[in-house]
Amino acid sequence: MKYEHLYVVIEHEGGKPIPVSLEMLGEARRLMDGYNSKYGASELVVAVVLGNNVRKLCDELVHYGADAVIYADSPELEYSRNAVDTPVLFQIATNRDLVLKFAPMSTGFVKPRYMFFAADNIGRQLSSTVVGFLDSGLASDINKLAISDLEIKHEHKTKGQGMVYERTLEMYRPDFSGFLWTTILCLDNRNPAIAKEFHPQACSIIPGVFAPIERDATRKGMIVDYAPTFDPASLKVKILSRKIVKSSVDFDSKKAVVSFGRGIKESPEENIRMMAELAKELDAEVGVSLPISKKPFPVSENISSMYMTPDRVVGTSGRKVIPLLYVAAGISGAMHHLAGMKESGFVLAINPDEDAPIKDECDMFVKGRMEDVIPVLIEELRRLRPALEARR
Ligand SMILES: Cc1cc2nc3c(=O)[nH]c(=O)nc-3n(C[C@H](O)[C@H](O)[C@H](O)COP(=O)(O)OP(=O)(O)OC[C@H]3O[C@@H](n4cnc5c(N)ncnc54)[C@H](O)[C@@H]3O)c2cc1C
Repeated sequence: MKYEHLYVVIEHEGGKPIPVSLEMLGEARRLMDGYNSKYGASELVVAVVLGNNVRKLCDELVHYGADAVIYADSPELEYSRNAVDTPVLFQIATNRDLVLKFAPMSTGFVKPRYMFFAADNIGRQLSSTVVGFLDSGLASDINKLAISDLEIKHEHKTKGQGMVYERTLEMYRPDFSGFLWTTILCLDNRNPAIAKEFHPQACSIIPGVFAPIERDATRKGMIVDYAPTFDPASLKVKILSRKIVKSSVDFDSKKAVVSFGRGIKESPEENIRMMAELAKELDAEVGVSLPISKKPFPVSENISSMYMTPDRVVGTSGRKVIPLLYVAAGISGAMHHLAGMKESGFVLAINPDEDAPIKDECDMFVKGRMEDVIPVLIEELRRLRPALEARR
């Protein structure tokens, strides 16, 4: 077959897989087990690793569900650079000789059937450039997947005829702040006037939504080495030194996080000061929704630079937090935000809209404006403080 196997592009930090890599492998394993039994096939989950001296990682990926690992090792691949990684991944995804090493029956291989990337800063960019090189389509920020046979009738794709598309990857993503689910399909053009095949069917996957499979050290898989070639032009950008800047935002050691979103809009400056005061009372860290980090409302410079910052974002584009208490004020509860806080111990949401999705994700919902509710909370915390401290 021209299109076979599911390729998972692995991200790692010096040989340690980042969590979404194992989550993607877990979902790939579940999907391909179902696929192989449904279609009587024996297509594989293939992990793809770029790195330098990280061979041990390949064994680990087999323990987490990969049937085969393609490993490109080079000092040039130590740190991710899009201009370097994109052509290497393109070479790998179109290399039949490599595939024949772990799947000798794949003699007609042209490109992978499916391909997964992480929906993080690196993977979002990489997925678009690699899939662009592969001349196919990409669905970004996916949080649910299925493989099925679909009857499609489309003015352009099928010239208005009803046709069955077998083995189609249905890629679901939350849109309009999570209020709408969209299913994205990457379908061949079967209309003869515009005939074209689109493979791999590819997507980037939101971190934290799929579970890895349980590690099984007895799982066996094949590791295939690949010696990449580099176009000198792609190596123009050099990484001379690399320093991970530690954020002063401390989500890890604080037992509570109080977050605010666009619901601050009526009096942004006063509301942010009020949330900071609540954080102080609870000895909590302050978090924000993604739109707040884009500084959507005019506030004084010191408030903006202190609170409307990317390192305070909770969610798929920011941090995952697991405090004992999470307060969400003026936050609607979009899927992207929920992914970053849903494992919190107790969630208190304050919102005047009782249809806001956060209501389904919280332990206590206070229907009301933050301007009315937060001052009462602060006052009550101050009133109770002496009694609480006496109990310590
Ligand atoms: C690829 C991608 C990645 C994303 N990543 C993230 C991410 O990591 N984190 C994230 O947060 N978002 C992320 N988003 C954006 C996300 O989809 C939502 O758009 C965003 O979370 C909505 O922010 P919000 O809740 O502050 O605003 P809104 O959705 O506008 O909600 C504001 C809420 O405030 C309430 N409100 C109004 N007035 C008051 C008041 N006086 N008091 C109290 N409440 C009030 C409203 O009822 C409403 O529910 C991402 C989106 C995309 C496409």
